Amino acid sequence: LTSAFTEVPYSAPEPLVKVLNKCAKDQNPNKIDVTIGVYMTEDGDSSYVFPSVKQAKQELLVKDPGHCYTKMSGVPEFIRGSQNLIFGEYAKDGRVASIQTISGTGSLHIAFQFLRSIGYNRYYLGNPSWVNYYPMIESIGGEIKEYQYYDNLTHEVDFESLEKAIREAEPQSAFLIQLCGHNPTGVDYSKDQWRQISKLVKNREILLVIDSAYLGFASGSIYEDSWAIRYLYEQNHEFLVCQSYSKNMGLYSERSGVIHVVLQDTRLRDNVESRLVAIFRNECSFAPAYGARIGAKLLNDDYLNKIWGKDVYSVYERVTNIKRQIFNKLTDLETPGNWEFVTKAKGLFWFSGLDKNQVNRMMNEYSIYMSENGRVNIAGINSSNIDYFCYAINKVVSQS
Ligand code: PLP
Repeated sequence: LTSAFTEVPYSAPEPLVKVLNKCAKDQNPNKIDVTIGVYMTEDGDSSYVFPSVKQAKQELLVKDPGHCYTKMSGVPEFIRGSQNLIFGEYAKDGRVASIQTISGTGSLHIAFQFLRSIGYNRYYLGNPSWVNYYPMIESIGGEIKEYQYYDNLTHEVDFESLEKAIREAEPQSAFLIQLCGHNPTGVDYSKDQWRQISKLVKNREILLVIDSAYLGFASGSIYEDSWAIRYLYEQNHEFLVCQSYSKNMGLYSERSGVIHVVLQDTRLRDNVESRLVAIFRNECSFAPAYGARIGAKLLNDDYLNKIWGKDVYSVYERVTNIKRQIFNKLTDLETPGNWEFVTKAKGLFWFSGLDKNQVNRMMNEYSIYMSENGRVNIAGINSSNIDYFCYAINKVVSQS
């Protein structure tokens, strides 16, 4: 009997996995891992639990809600709290349809399925962007168009390229744009640029899908970082927000997220929400509750909310401080080039500008592991490895 599965080809993992495997085998005591986008403490600890989350977990232990199914749309307090968090007072208007999802990735997937169901299946992506967008869109049969997100020379966004792409976009196109702490570039649209984006998409059959994966890490303030969402709302746009709490609550493996669809008319909300629920039910049935219950406490309890705000700020403070030190050290070492742009990077990532050859040398000669495109997770740098990190950059850049 031959197997039904003999024709299944091997699906190669993302290139990052290769780097991670190589890193895991490396015995060099000085090795540094700045590949994956997770927060690490000064001690290099990636299993760090935010104090606010720790306390919420304690409360859930004392008053155990059990494991029965939740609501079909998710944990209601988590969804409501998520709406309040980013829409503020506007959440009361009833113009936002929201359900819980399997974190940010699941939120994006539901967005893609939902948009496909209303005839939107063309996505504009700024290059470079989060690598997973591509297979996710391809897997639902979506079409991908690209524009240049980042200007390698100025280390700023290439706004002209976005502007051109929006002007030329056919009706029923979606622009997938990261809200803040952009992965992989660490470079975000300014308020002024968001205002221009709003003008450009006004009265066009173009939907913005806003991916919010690093909310709070760009400026240290959730409120400040979510400004663009309230601005687009005020301008009467219809748009989607895909919200992840993996990073800003450190709930990576709990898979806690929400999708919001902002509508012009409250009367559309029930239908849209019911469609989201139906899509989610077909694919996943119920969303995981534990992370959502922790999230609900951080979002709705005044005391825990304040602590959470401080937790987010302390991540921002640490990575900002490290970026400043990297700049100072590279400059002190007289590293060729101007490195000031590291201090301007927003959130966890710094798009170092090291080319493929330099990235390989960092890995092979110095045991410093980063993404192939030169993206560095700043949180992986701390006071005990920063000198070695800067020394290695200086060497590979000087000897190029
Ligand atoms: N969007 C961006 C830009 C990301 O970098 C990530 C994770 O790295 C996600 C979405 C999804 O994260 P998760 O599914 O873990 O919430």
